[in-house]
Amino acid sequence: FAALERADPEIAHVLLAEVDRQRAGLQLIASENYTWPEVLAALGSTLANKYAEGYPGRRYYGGCAEADHAEELAVQRARDLFGADHANVQPHSGTAANLAAYAALAEPGDTVLAMELPHGGHLTHGSRVNFSGKWFHPVGYRVTPNTEEIDYDEVRDLALAHHPKLIICGATAYPRAIDFATFRAIADEVGAYLLVDAAHFIGLVAGRAVPSPVPYADVVTCTTHKVLRGPRGGMILCRAELAERVDRAVFPFSQGSPMMHAIAGKAVALRLAALPDFQGYARQVVRNAQALAAGLAAEGMRPVSGGTDTHLALVDLTGLGVTGRDAEARCDLARISLNKNAIPYDPQRPAVASGIRVGSPSVTTQGMREGEMRQIAGLIGVAVRCDPGTAPGAARLAGVADEVGALVGRFPAYAGQEA
Ligand code: PLP
Repeated sequence: FAALERADPEIAHVLLAEVDRQRAGLQLIASENYTWPEVLAALGSTLANKYAEGYPGRRYYGGCAEADHAEELAVQRARDLFGADHANVQPHSGTAANLAAYAALAEPGDTVLAMELPHGGHLTHGSRVNFSGKWFHPVGYRVTPNTEEIDYDEVRDLALAHHPKLIICGATAYPRAIDFATFRAIADEVGAYLLVDAAHFIGLVAGRAVPSPVPYADVVTCTTHKVLRGPRGGMILCRAELAERVDRAVFPFSQGSPMMHAIAGKAVALRLAALPDFQGYARQVVRNAQALAAGLAAEGMRPVSGGTDTHLALVDLTGLGVTGRDAEARCDLARISLNKNAIPYDPQRPAVASGIRVGSPSVTTQGMREGEMRQIAGLIGVAVRCDPGTAPGAARLAGVADEVGALVGRFPAYAGQEA
């Protein structure tokens, strides 16, 4: 790090300031985590220099022996951990994994049935501003207005009416367990492929805290940087019959050379996630999210669908008369990072939103448990009610920031490391 400070003090400053930010506040963004220091070591390694287009044993470049070894380890560990026939660890991100999955399973113009974005789906599930909505024909399913859980009857009705080539489940802001068996049955009834986008919860699957989609899906796409605690990146798991199509859809169809340093980081994360400790972590992530949701409910914020089975809660703030946008900004001032989020049937536009999304992966990595979640819910309850435009509001937010500082000081992230 001293060499970086000499060569580029500005970027060195950014790195130090960011580690300070991550240590000094509460990180409640559901898609984030503190990756392992061992993963950071792999990401900062000379494997970053290596070109390795192709797959192990079938590269378009020389000198790939070590790259092959890293990728073979990552693939084998993914297959073992998830009981999958085949794994592709090359996707650069969750979006890249989804692009490759579409390419493997469908043709442009085909109908794709997936969850609507305002109900929890991801941009890659048919948004008009994304390849998925521009190149494919999206049909969206929703949650029911009363339970706020997936309306499986509507999914089936839409599947029967539109005969999609591909059905997608798995979401960005859906707190409940997904009934993969029902999705499988609907896909079979209409002859569609089933893609489970497990970007958010694959780490919970690794830790055996939620059911695995692998036995039900034709293809599972995921990210490696959320609950799983790996490097930023994507991964695809699939049945043996689809292996070649998936591999070709990643390279050469949608990507060039893989990022070998990231693949080494994925291998490390998959090894660590297979250890018994990770199961304890994943279960605590869920218990913490449940405690956080219950604590927020006690503060007058309504958990959408009544609670959570996963690592995240979606919370409706309309009862407080505070928008998601204001809540996010107020919490930021109190050093609490979370994001505004649309709730199902939200009357507000997405940039304002009526809710917030909170997640427990990062605080659980720090070692916090249910008691701290109740404390965090109380701090959020104070922060969202403070108007920073008034002197008392601003002073109270500064007070909450101090309490946040005292709390995270008891659970230091990356203790003993410099950046
Ligand atoms: N799929 C889902 C369900 C997601 O929530 C996300 C990101 O949050 C992605 C895909 C895309 O992942 P990435 O941001 O790595 O492209």
